[in-house]
Amino acid sequence: MNLTLQNKFDIILHALEIIGSYETCDCGCPQKRQGRVAGTPAQVWAIANEALRNIGHEIKVYDEKSSNY
Ligand SMILES: [Zn+2]
Repeated sequence: MNLTLQNKFDIILHALEIIGSYETCDCGCPQKRQGRVAGTPAQVWAIANEALRNIGHEIKVYDEKSSNY
């Protein structure tokens, strides 16, 4: 599978749209919208993780003992 930059962009954009979109609300705020939380934290992680894997990105393993992030 050889993805172009455009393909990768589309995959990442799709994931970001899911986890960074709005939903309408009726709480009285001026824009009538609020952040749409896409499921549990684990589900949000899975969406991002899948997108990173789908573009062939080498996913970082954070090490709390080091400061390389
Ligand atoms: Zn609102």
